[in-house]
Amino acid sequence: MTSLSKSATNIENLIGKAREGNDLSRAEIIQLLQMPEDHSPALFTAADDVRKEQVGDEIFLRGIIEFSNYCERNCLYCGLRCANAKISRYRMTADEIIAAAQQIKNLRIPTVVLQSGEDSFFSTEIICNLIERVRAETGLIITLSLGERSLADYQAFAQAGANRYLLKHETASRDIYNYLRPGCKLESRLQCLFNLKKLGFETGTGNMVGLPGQTPEILADDLLIMKKLDADMLGIGPFIAHPETPLAGIDNDALELTCRVVAIARLITRNTNIPATTALSTLHPQGRIQALQAGANVVMPDFTPDIYKIRYDIYPGRTDVGSAAEIMVKLEKDFASIGRSLLYSAGYRKK
Ligand code: SAH
Ligand code: SF4
Repeated sequence: MTSLSKSATNIENLIGKAREGNDLSRAEIIQLLQMPEDHSPALFTAADDVRKEQVGDEIFLRGIIEFSNYCERNCLYCGLRCANAKISRYRMTADEIIAAAQQIKNLRIPTVVLQSGEDSFFSTEIICNLIERVRAETGLIITLSLGERSLADYQAFAQAGANRYLLKHETASRDIYNYLRPGCKLESRLQCLFNLKKLGFETGTGNMVGLPGQTPEILADDLLIMKKLDADMLGIGPFIAHPETPLAGIDNDALELTCRVVAIARLITRNTNIPATTALSTLHPQGRIQALQAGANVVMPDFTPDIYKIRYDIYPGRTDVGSAAEIMVKLEKDFASIGRSLLYSAGYRKK
C-alpha cells in the first residue's frame, strides 16, 4: 500500500470512528479539519447520518427579532460596534416587538429569539417586562441573545420566563479574542455560559470560521469547548468582513471549512441543535442547504420588520429580506428539494 492510500484509509477509519460515536482527540479533530477536500463528502455523509439518527429529518424553526442595533461594545468584526458612526441606530418599541412575535406565532413557529447589541437602554426591568409580555400575549418559547450580562440579570430573565440563551464564545484563542473584542475576556464569556447552564437555560455557544489568525488547532479547541460545555445549541458561521470595521476587505471563502466544522460538531456532540446560519447563506446561495446536509438541523428565519432589518448590519449582504410569509414559502421550497420538511414544534434538545 502506498503512503497516500494508507493515509486515505486512516482518514476513512477516523470518520467511521466518529460516525460510531467514539470520542475524538484534539489531534484527530485537527486531522479532519486539514484532510484533503476529496474526503469532505464522506465526512458530510457521516454527519448527515448522525443528524438523522439523533434529531430526525425535520428542520427546527426559530423566528428571530433583532430589536436593537445599539451596542456599547467595539468588536472588530461587527458592523454594530460602537465606533461605527455610519450605521443608523434603532430600537424597536415593546409593541413593535410583540407585533413581530405575533407574526411568528401566526406562522405556527413555536419559538422566538430576541437578539440585540449590548444595549444598556434595555435594563433588567425592561427586558423582564418584555419577556413577560411575549409569554402572556403569544405563549412563544423565548430565547435571548443579548450578550454578556450579570448572573443576577440572567436569573431575573429566567424567572420572567426566558428559556434559552445564545452566547457564542466566538473563538477559543485568547490572543485572537483579546484582539477582536477590546476590553473583553474569554474567561468572562465562558463564565456567562456556565452561569446560564447552571440556571437551567438551554444554552447555545459557537464560533466564527475564517477569522484572521485562526488555525486548525484553534478550530479544534472551539469544537472541544462546545463539547465540554455540553451546549444544547451550536451557532457555527463564517466570518464576513464588514466595510466599516477594522477588518474591512479580509476575504473569506470558508464555506467548505465552515461545513466541516458543522459536521465535526455534529459527530462529537451527537444530539445538539445546530443552525444552518444566515451567514452561510450570505456567503454562498447554497450555503444553508449544504450545512443542512452536513449535520445542521435548525434554521432561524428573520422576522425583524424590513425597515429595521436592513439596519441590523452585523455583516454585509444579509439575505432573507421580504415578508415573513414570503420567507417561509421560500424555505419550504428549498428544503423540500433535499427531502426535508419543517417542524412546527418546540424542538428542545432530546437528552
Ligand atoms: N451582541 C450579542 C448578539 C448579537 S451579535 C453578542 O455579541 O453575542 C450575534 C453574532 O453575530 C455574534 O455572536 C457573532 O458571532 C456574529 N457576528 C458578528 N459580526 C460578524 C461578522 N462580521 N461575520 C459573521 N458573524 C458575525
Ligand atoms: Fe456588539 Fe455583539 Fe456586534 Fe460585539 S458582536 S459589537 S457585542 S453586537
